[in-house]
Amino acid sequence: MKVTEHIAQAKDTLISFEILPPLKGKSIESIYDHLDPLMTFKPAFINVTYHRSEHMFKKRSDGSFEKVEIRKRPGTVAICAAVMNHYNVDAVPHLICGGFSREETENALIDLNFLGVDNVLVLRGDAPKNESSFEPEPHGHRYADELLHQVVNMNNGMYLEEDLQGGVKTKFCIGVAGYPEKHFEAPNLATDMSYLKRKVENGADYIITQMFFDNQKFFDFVKKCREMGITVPIIPGLKPMTTRKQLTVLPRAFHVDIPNDLANEILKCKTDKDVELVGAEWLIQQSKELKEFGVPVLHYYTLGKPEVIRKVVEAVV
Ligand code: FAD
Repeated sequence: MKVTEHIAQAKDTLISFEILPPLKGKSIESIYDHLDPLMTFKPAFINVTYHRSEHMFKKRSDGSFEKVEIRKRPGTVAICAAVMNHYNVDAVPHLICGGFSREETENALIDLNFLGVDNVLVLRGDAPKNESSFEPEPHGHRYADELLHQVVNMNNGMYLEEDLQGGVKTKFCIGVAGYPEKHFEAPNLATDMSYLKRKVENGADYIITQMFFDNQKFFDFVKKCREMGITVPIIPGLKPMTTRKQLTVLPRAFHVDIPNDLANEILKCKTDKDVELVGAEWLIQQSKELKEFGVPVLHYYTLGKPEVIRKVVEAVV
């Protein structure tokens, strides 16, 4: 079922989770171990992130180095199929521009369609860790909007080859990312939101936001979206703080502010176990307020901390 159908049929705020594929070499059981404690909350859907290859230097036997491409977390599509089969829940694969030509994207979408996946979250992706800016693949997409256009085309039965127009129409429900605190490359929030609006005008069915720790930022973002004429559902992306190190890591990696009150509480913590308690309590309060505000879904980034998310959701539902 499509994310938008879940939202349209819901009588109360829905719950959903985002998971990462396990590191290469681990089994699918690690995914089930992660999700089992969370399935009691009957999530409407489960997102599975996509991780592109990273360029690394491997030492040869003669001491010289060769550049290799390594994907540390493969398996997004297969995990979606496994999760749908194992739990009878909808899965939402993340689909990125980075590392894909249009042809490879088309083939990935055909696989997803054959597997009965009804949803995709279309994203640009970031530059590989050791590269300074995002560069599309040859014949790939530069912006999420272009990738979205390809999915919309397939939903209309339009494939890349001229003689394949009028092919099977896929029925993907398309999500896109939004940034209450602005995407880090955008010159300002207004410009960033104008591109978000374009994604919606071009066919995005809903928006999921980057994590935020100050609900007011989300409320302001929703207000601005509505003023601009963006009417699709806006789903807040939520993450608990679980380590002291995240006070500096999260602002650097995700370009989000940590509110003073939360930062001060975390600074008082002696151990990361204490931080988990503070982070969970903060997220419980955030979630309750967002529920009250009327968000359609509370979407939790589980990021290896299912027990913390379980505690939070238990307190909210
Ligand atoms: P875009 O919408 O393409 O925007 C990228 C930048 O370009 C923005 O600054 C925007 O303002 C600007 N822009 C957009 N369109 C245009 C245009 N036409 N002309 C000029 N400028 C433009 N990354 C992964 O690799 N894998 C994942 O699984 C993943 N999951 C994510 C899930 C969520 C909910 C979120 C919020 C992010 C996720 N990301 C993931 C990270 C995401 O890929 C990065 O934040 C990326 O830098 C931007 O992706 P986007 O889809 O927002 O890009």
